[in-house]
Amino acid sequence: MKMCKVCRKKPRIERRVDSDGNVFCSDECFGEFEGGPDDFSHPYIDDYDMLRIAYMDWMENY
Ligand SMILES: [Zn+2]
Repeated sequence: MKMCKVCRKKPRIERRVDSDGNVFCSDECFGEFEGGPDDFSHPYIDDYDMLRIAYMDWMENY
């Protein structure tokens, strides 16, 4: 498994991937990473974020 691009920890439930394939353990690390693609202009970013949040919610609450 890939490690977080920023802090090098092993990503868990909050794992997120940008459109370049970089892996992050959390939104905090994702936000800290400079020089990545501008994911917020990506056409599917809303779907991705929605699915990701739903997944985390399921993993934590069910
Ligand atoms: Zn991290």
